[in-house]
Amino acid sequence: MSKIITRFAPSPTGHLHIGGARTALFSWLLARHYGGEFRLRIEDTDLERSRQEYTDSILASMRWLGLDWDGDLAYQTKRTELYNAAVDRLLENGTAYWCTCTPDEVDAMREAAKAKGEKPRYDGRCRDKHHGPAQGAVVRLNVNAVMPAGSRVAFDDMVKGHVAVSVDELDDMVLRRSDGMPTYNMAVVVDDHDMGVTHVIRGDDHVSNTPKQILLYKALGWPLPVFGHVPMILGPDRQKLSKRHGARAVVEYQKDGLLPGALVNCLARLGWSHGDQEIFTMDELIRFFDGTNLNSSAAAFDFERLNWLNAHYLHETPADTLAELVAPFVAERGMEPAPDALARFIPLYHERAKTLIELADSIVRLMKSADKLDYDEKAVAKALTEEGRGHVRALHSLFASLPSFDAETLNTALNAYVNDNGFKFKQVGPALRVALLGIQNGPHLPDLMAALGRDATLKRMERACAVSTPAA
Ligand code: GLU
Repeated sequence: MSKIITRFAPSPTGHLHIGGARTALFSWLLARHYGGEFRLRIEDTDLERSRQEYTDSILASMRWLGLDWDGDLAYQTKRTELYNAAVDRLLENGTAYWCTCTPDEVDAMREAAKAKGEKPRYDGRCRDKHHGPAQGAVVRLNVNAVMPAGSRVAFDDMVKGHVAVSVDELDDMVLRRSDGMPTYNMAVVVDDHDMGVTHVIRGDDHVSNTPKQILLYKALGWPLPVFGHVPMILGPDRQKLSKRHGARAVVEYQKDGLLPGALVNCLARLGWSHGDQEIFTMDELIRFFDGTNLNSSAAAFDFERLNWLNAHYLHETPADTLAELVAPFVAERGMEPAPDALARFIPLYHERAKTLIELADSIVRLMKSADKLDYDEKAVAKALTEEGRGHVRALHSLFASLPSFDAETLNTALNAYVNDNGFKFKQVGPALRVALLGIQNGPHLPDLMAALGRDATLKRMERACAVSTPAA
């Protein structure tokens, strides 16, 4: 088999959204599976809407997801000569022609076709007029010079199977606009051919463009790539994906504290499966993604599943990697992400946190000095009652006198305090936890205190006894 070359061709008119990310992932996986190449092309011919900041953001999201590309990044705006050369070839071989009809005239033709109950289209009136270049003229494809009326343009889609469209459905489309810029279909065909793309994977919003592009391949005498149109991503309610349901930019997921592996895993399963397997490492995805088992029905995005996957990935990530990932979130919260503090505190929440945000919030709570700790009013009212404070005071003297401050010593001391005095743990534990953390939930108390260290533990207990109980 010749080398497989795939590509991702975003338009820089917005950030990378999950639909685009899934298309990019599938293209990338197919290339990596077969040891081929994955190319990236920025389709920036829409000068009004394209922005460099979106290109930068798309590239950053690709890198964050781990989707590296081969070769140089291509920008369509830098390739106009190539497109013009191809348009000239079509003019020379008689499959394209200059058209001088004004936009108003074309509109009128469309209206007339509609009035006759036909598909709105250009009626081909300039086909045989042999116009040359002129102010305001466009170049159109002469569809019937490529394929006879009544024939069918067909292809076998990797996802959708056999697709066939009557040539009569296709318009003599514009290839070069009056401003000299190529149209989308023209540029894409020239680029895909020039970059040696063998497999075009894209969203199925482009499936109606494919027969038009096939005509261009034929007109230019170029071999066709394989096409794969992946279905839309729907919300969990199987309606159009809304923002609430996750139709967001990859960068927003990143800001929400998701791990790239979780998002990649979630995207991979939108329209592709490998038996019943739910969780994949990147290596497994590459090994299993061979272009089969692509589902043609729209896939539903499940935000709950993404959160679940994220928690799984977070628990599986080694603590030192997690320290690197969480450091920017800690810094964002105004604390210095000192490596020793991260190393002490991450293990307390490694199994509990579901996102990097949760992890950062928890760590920052432990990093703060006692006087900066904020106490949740409800938790204080519930646990730091007179009785609760009594326990905190008693434990303070006990802990102050311990010979060492490791989790085991603390555990023994705490249990002895509860048992020897005939208390129940629930009379003591919640008061101590709120005293230490300001909130009701948290890790195992001896582990927590050992990680805080004696000084911070005692200061927090002192502060807690001074915090006033809100009026009931
Ligand atoms: N630039 C197109 C888009 O962002 C993709 C074109 C293609 O993949 O052929 O929708």
